[in-house]
Amino acid sequence: MSLVVAKFGGTSVACHYSMVRCAQIVINSPMTRLVVVSASSGVTNCLVELTQSNINDQQRQTLLTEIAKIQYGICDGLSRRAEVLSNIDVILSRIAELSDALVLNRSKALMDELLATGEQCSALLFAAVLREQGANAQAFDVRQVLRTDNHFGRAEPQIAFIADLAQTQLAPLLQSQVIVTQGFVGADVDGNTTTLGRGGSDYSAALLAEALQASAVEIWTDVAGIYTTDPRLAPNARPLKEISFNEAAEMATFGAKVLHPATILPAVRQQINVFVGSSKAPEEGGTWIRHQTEDSPVFRAVTLRKDQTLLNLHSLQMLHTQGFLAETFATLAKHKISVDLITTSEVNVSLTLDKTGSDSSGQGLLTEALLADLSEHCRVKVEDQLALVAIIGNKIASTAGICARVFNVLVDFNVRMICQGASPHNLCVLVSAADASAVVQALHSDLFE
Ligand code: ADP
Ligand code: ASP
Ligand code: MG
Repeated sequence: MSLVVAKFGGTSVACHYSMVRCAQIVINSPMTRLVVVSASSGVTNCLVELTQSNINDQQRQTLLTEIAKIQYGICDGLSRRAEVLSNIDVILSRIAELSDALVLNRSKALMDELLATGEQCSALLFAAVLREQGANAQAFDVRQVLRTDNHFGRAEPQIAFIADLAQTQLAPLLQSQVIVTQGFVGADVDGNTTTLGRGGSDYSAALLAEALQASAVEIWTDVAGIYTTDPRLAPNARPLKEISFNEAAEMATFGAKVLHPATILPAVRQQINVFVGSSKAPEEGGTWIRHQTEDSPVFRAVTLRKDQTLLNLHSLQMLHTQGFLAETFATLAKHKISVDLITTSEVNVSLTLDKTGSDSSGQGLLTEALLADLSEHCRVKVEDQLALVAIIGNKIASTAGICARVFNVLVDFNVRMICQGASPHNLCVLVSAADASAVVQALHSDLFE
């Protein structure tokens, strides 16, 4: 069966009106049999706040009221409201219970159960909107198929199990119905709810598309595709017609929020084309991400990743000896941190930690425990208020004149760290957070305008 998986992000399912617009996109495309939804805009942020230890009773009540307002607001738009209202009430009561329970027990498993409720509401509501618009649609609990490990807050999907479970539990339902399921959410082998990290619904859509051997994944969002840079940062940014898997993966990794960084992995494994478009203006078209594109320009896009932390590790042990980097990487691996950018000198190693690598409840990577472990074999200095700007393209490492052009643009800015050469697709500079937007704008203007 040729099948398309469509994912709708938070702004696309923010209210009843937006959901109706998305339902039309699904109905107009008979190949779209599986719909993956995010929580309605704002809901996950409220749930994350409910997981924080420093909120008081009054703040908790305000957050619960805000979530209920968004979900009931969508119910109110439904003509057959009663159909889903009792289910939404059950979830809202569970949210209150879980936030109470977290006061006494700050368990990561409970946090994930709480964080997953936003997507549970929107799957029920979106299925109801689809039915109202004439489609034969049903909500489906993704925890039946999206098996992960139990690393709560940033769970790792288990691809072989997902393929098996999706083929047996989900594929038969898709023959006769449009199925609406939750992004961002999974379950471990014992059935405990897990989450994939912030923005993880894109990843869920790609994982399910891989498991079902879909022909395409559509990511419907609030912009008409992937742009030469974030259109919020540079008004002259322009949408790209197509980009390669490699370019898209680099863009997502280096901060283009329009795609979760892991989204491209399943697509590459199964060679599934990915479309990114605006649910508000589907007629504008969007960007196709494919294995091969017609052209491979040296400069494709500029990305920005905010909230970067630089760790500077100093040790005399490094001088003419071996093993220091191995020890450092082992410590980082123990704390489940994948090394991001890295530069080394004779007695120093500098590496960046990326906040997008933090877990669903926003807990940072830089924990006391990590610092203590690193301090056992070196002196650690932490710098924050940094941002990473990446130029994404092709043959960057083998084309003469690129660095000269880039550094000419950056002449007025202090560059804290540079990384180039590991990949043919990027050149990265670490700059102060205060300069970040200006650096992106200057580069975009020189390279693309
Ligand atoms: P959703 O809720 O649909 O998942 P996100 O907010 O996660 O949407 O991602 C969409 C946003 O990504 C856009 O509003 C835009 O500001 C941002 N963005 C960052 N870089 C880019 C880029 N290169 N092209 C398009 N959008 C980008
Ligand atoms: N709702 C989750 C978040 O806001 C997942 C997603 O939207 O992709 O991070
Ligand atoms: Mg997103």
